[in-house]
Amino acid sequence: MNVCVLGAQWGDEGKGKIVDLLTPRFSIVARYQGGHNAGHTVYVSGRKFVLHLIPSGILHPGVICIIGSGVVVDLEALFAEVDKLAGMGVDVTGRLLVSDRAHLIMPYHREIEVLAEARRGERKIGTTSRGIGPAYEDKIARRGIRVGDLADPSNDGPLAHAIRENVEVRNRLVGDTAMKWESLLADLRQHWTRLKPLVADTSLHLDRAIKNGQRVMFEGAQGTLLDIDHGTYPFVTSSSATAGGASTGLGVGPKSIGAVLGVAKAYTTRVGGGPLPTELFDAVGERLRDTGQEYGASTGRPRRCGWFDAVAVRYAARINGLDALAITKLDVLDGFDTLEICTAYRCGNEVLTEMPGDTAQFAACTPIYETWPGWSEPTSGVTDYARLPKEARAYIARLEEVTGVPAAIVSTGSDRDHTIIRRDLPSAKGLY
Ligand code: GDP
Repeated sequence: MNVCVLGAQWGDEGKGKIVDLLTPRFSIVARYQGGHNAGHTVYVSGRKFVLHLIPSGILHPGVICIIGSGVVVDLEALFAEVDKLAGMGVDVTGRLLVSDRAHLIMPYHREIEVLAEARRGERKIGTTSRGIGPAYEDKIARRGIRVGDLADPSNDGPLAHAIRENVEVRNRLVGDTAMKWESLLADLRQHWTRLKPLVADTSLHLDRAIKNGQRVMFEGAQGTLLDIDHGTYPFVTSSSATAGGASTGLGVGPKSIGAVLGVAKAYTTRVGGGPLPTELFDAVGERLRDTGQEYGASTGRPRRCGWFDAVAVRYAARINGLDALAITKLDVLDGFDTLEICTAYRCGNEVLTEMPGDTAQFAACTPIYETWPGWSEPTSGVTDYARLPKEARAYIARLEEVTGVPAAIVSTGSDRDHTIIRRDLPSAKGLY
């Protein structure tokens, strides 16, 4: 069965670790959206790997990794990541494929994004300013440049014309410096020499592989609440981080997705702007941030932290059709006397049990909590569900109840081995 692994909250849920953990059961790991704004941190036997664009499956020899057409690719970032992996002994040769239809992030996209964020002032979205949003804007506006376009060798063909037009727009927007389209084209030609062997019709590759009985894992970046259509717009990313994005972003039929696994922390975090009803501004929030090391893998920014928001995860269950949850970072909750779970929102005189679509209304929501007893024994590194303190089991059981999704995996530490796989649950069967 092919499985889609995605974030069920606001990103940074620990997807990298879960993808890495499940990869040995799959032949291919395929990333379907986003850019190098994602940051997956994976620890293997104490060694730290941070991946931005290349699927975390690359850490397993023999596994093919695909960057699909729904991803936007910054070639400098891609090659830097390939080189960094090589330096750590991970060879991607013959194992990394990039879709010929993926759009490219150009240097002018980065500049335009910095300008746009500055213009928004107070209302800034808190993007990573890596040009991802403007690259997607160009894609939708049908002036984007795709990986396969780089094959055009002419200095007077469609590629040169498109670059020239886009650079002219950039030069009008960024008044104080001028970019030369000829030098950008020359840089792209150089990149093409290195990129060409990796380029493929990845949809066709996946189709053939699936027909040959190979198992594919579809890897999402960011999270459901950051999805362009279903997230807390406008404080969202520019792509489809939800399960539907796997189909459009990789060119595979929706029926090829056998199961959907949502990754959710045992609490809540968010980076950047936008409403977050369970956010804590007190010592508890600080403790979650410090114990959970909640600082962005891509930018180092401190993450906003709060209690588990079951309304948001229940929403993610609906949007993605989640079959199972992987609850991560349970160990971060060790030692709290009590824990809170948000089961509904109070908004004025109303009690809401579903996420409102109106962002202003969502921002005005306050959480309605249930209080659960904490546990004092450490859960860190526990690999057997029965060995968790009974309060931790009760907490997980309640998360399952209020989200309506079984927790097939519980993560108790950053290492691959610090994981509980609940093989007795039917929802765990196809995953592992
Ligand atoms: P991703 O983008 O969803 O992969 O998430 P990040 O990599 O940005 O953040 C997850 C962080 O939490 C990484 O540093 C992981 O090593 C770490 N992590 C993952 N699972 C656990 C866990 O169960 N416990 C603890 N303490 N850390 C974890």
